Amino acid sequence: MAYNGAFKKEIEQIVPGRIRWHELMAHHTSMGVGGTADLFIEPGNVDELRKALACLVGYSIPFVPVGNCTNLIVRDGGYRGAIISLRGMGTVDIKLNGQGNGFIYGEAGVALSRLVELTVRECFTGMEFCAGIPGSIGGAVKMNAGAYGSELKDVIAEVTVIDRNGIIAAKRRGDLSFEYRNLVMEEESIIVSAVFGLQEGDEEQIRKRIAEIISMRKQKHPLGYRNAGSIFKNPKPVPAGKIIDDLGLKGSRVGDAQISEQHGNFIINLGSATCRDIIRLIDYITKRVVEETGISLETEIKIIGDV
Ligand SMILES: Cc1cc2nc3c(=O)[nH]c(=O)nc-3n(C[C@H](O)[C@H](O)[C@H](O)COP(=O)(O)OP(=O)(O)OC[C@H]3O[C@@H](n4cnc5c(N)ncnc54)[C@H](O)[C@@H]3O)c2cc1C
Repeated sequence: MAYNGAFKKEIEQIVPGRIRWHELMAHHTSMGVGGTADLFIEPGNVDELRKALACLVGYSIPFVPVGNCTNLIVRDGGYRGAIISLRGMGTVDIKLNGQGNGFIYGEAGVALSRLVELTVRECFTGMEFCAGIPGSIGGAVKMNAGAYGSELKDVIAEVTVIDRNGIIAAKRRGDLSFEYRNLVMEEESIIVSAVFGLQEGDEEQIRKRIAEIISMRKQKHPLGYRNAGSIFKNPKPVPAGKIIDDLGLKGSRVGDAQISEQHGNFIINLGSATCRDIIRLIDYITKRVVEETGISLETEIKIIGDV
């Protein structure tokens, strides 16, 4: 896509030093795949984000927000438009109310791991289930990330969102519509920050639960290879990984993309997998599962960009 000089000058003034042209997305996705994004922008604060959005919308440039790209793959042809990385927005704040509970505020770019560390330090319980999920607050809230029986919606008090017109609005928990692995949001709106409501807990118990979770993850997940977590949403009542395992599909390969031998719902990159390999493997699994069980698997990971 061709970008005119006026646009280039304007956007570079808005996020000086934090804009990259023709950025290889394979360097950003946890799967290690993806062609180049025309622009990769990393605003450092809400004001820069608002101005960058106004500029992109003004010049009709498509955009997509990302956090840590751990639930997202980019096709090999890359992305025609701007990838807005929220990772530069990393402020956190803690408010204790002295009545056995409190709140943690975090900007979209804060890593969940940092949030979990903070809750341990402050002896807050409620976020232990997030231990080992490698996302950012923005991505995790958008995905309503969950594990071991809990989801982010259980601890969310408020989410602040900016829309394509630059309007910033804080929405209370009751006004948010969470689904399984999704927060329903207006098209092209971006999560700026979130507030989590947590209870005071026992430090030893919190640490113990986190250690248990990390240990379970190490046992079950193929963490020695690049991956994007669960590829498919779990259809009820049987988890996608078990369906795939029962069909004997573990270990199946397309190029360097392989269904993990350790966990049927993980695809791993053995080294030089392309996005095309991964998508062909996803299509193969989906086809085999529907043919043999009648169940239509739906992807949990997001796939963007051009073939
Ligand atoms: C080893 C491993 C284990 C995992 N375990 C789990 C697990 O137990 N449970 C689970 O739910 N997930 C898990 N995941 C998947 C992933 O880590 C989570 O979904 C995570 O919360 C995604 O966050 P992210 O910042 O990486 O989002 P990204 O991958 O960057 O983005 C995901 C989606 O959110 C959108 N998005 C990102 N930021 C914003 C924003 N600020 N505003 C609006 N939309 C935004 C993107 O456009 C995209 O559609 C795992 C992944 C890996 C690699």
